[in-house]
Amino acid sequence: AEGSSVRVRFAPSPSGDLHVGNIRTALYDWAYARHTGGTFVFRIEDTDRSRVTDEYIAAAAETLRWLGLDWDEGPEVGGDRGPYQQSQRMDLYREWAQRFLDEGHAYRCYCSPEELDERREEQKRKGLPPGYDGRCRTLSAEQVAAFEAEGRQPVLRFRMPEGSTTFVDAIRGEVTFDHANVPDFVLVRADGYPLYTLAVAVDDVLMGITHILRGEDLLSSTPRQIAVYRAMGVTEERTPVFGHLPFVMGQDNVKLSKRNGEVSIAWYRREGFLPEALCNYLALLGWSPGEDREDFTLEEMARDFTIERVGKNPARFDMKKLEAINGDK
Ligand code: GLU
Repeated sequence: AEGSSVRVRFAPSPSGDLHVGNIRTALYDWAYARHTGGTFVFRIEDTDRSRVTDEYIAAAAETLRWLGLDWDEGPEVGGDRGPYQQSQRMDLYREWAQRFLDEGHAYRCYCSPEELDERREEQKRKGLPPGYDGRCRTLSAEQVAAFEAEGRQPVLRFRMPEGSTTFVDAIRGEVTFDHANVPDFVLVRADGYPLYTLAVAVDDVLMGITHILRGEDLLSSTPRQIAVYRAMGVTEERTPVFGHLPFVMGQDNVKLSKRNGEVSIAWYRREGFLPEALCNYLALLGWSPGEDREDFTLEEMARDFTIERVGKNPARFDMKKLEAINGDK
């Protein structure tokens, strides 16, 4: 499949060292791109610069390189194929936000955080669905003038269309979200700062991404992203294929997370684990090469990786097994 049009991205928000879950996602993205002869895009999602630092970004690139996961576009590539850092693309997101406003896909919302809190409580008391109640959807010119006169700074909110979103997840099958449960969401903060849901959708479209393999924790943001694609004029056929990877669980049956410092790849590296062993073991956390084979290289994974062989159930992280594989390498 040399030169195929498949474009896969790994898009972490490195607010710390990359951990087991991130790297499992990166590994599957990489393997799918390599298997199909497509392009592997590595994109840094650092719109929230209070959490993502240059140091963590450099460490993320270093971790991928150490593991042997090479990328075709992204940090350090150069030319028009990288760095791809969202903090450097803010004007682009603002331009799209303005366009959404002009075309009625978005509106200015003047509700203050206190007012939103108050109404959230009220919604809860009345048993109404949580999330934004749409109050600023249909403001009159007089109401807008009054808010402006008060000196209120509006956020920009996306206007979720009525109805529902259905898509075929490459791992989970058909998934439907009723928009009654997907409230209008903020695209740009009051201080002019674009948010993740806007940036991720704009980038996936502009970068021609065809496949989005990522953690299950992002499943619920998919209907919002698809709605932004539609506002950008992306048809259903040209919408990327989504595949949401089941969680990686710890021994205690709790989802592994960044908060568990001991699951960072940097920690394994310091402890003397080999990159080959980590890739081999992480690949097995939710993917099966078939025929009971448990020992393989990255090249073999690239050769054999298909989404069909990704499991639907949460994988369980097993340190003993990782240690055994590491001992054999
Ligand atoms: N940057 C997001 C995160 O690290 C992931 C975005 C995505 O894969 O769509 O949580």
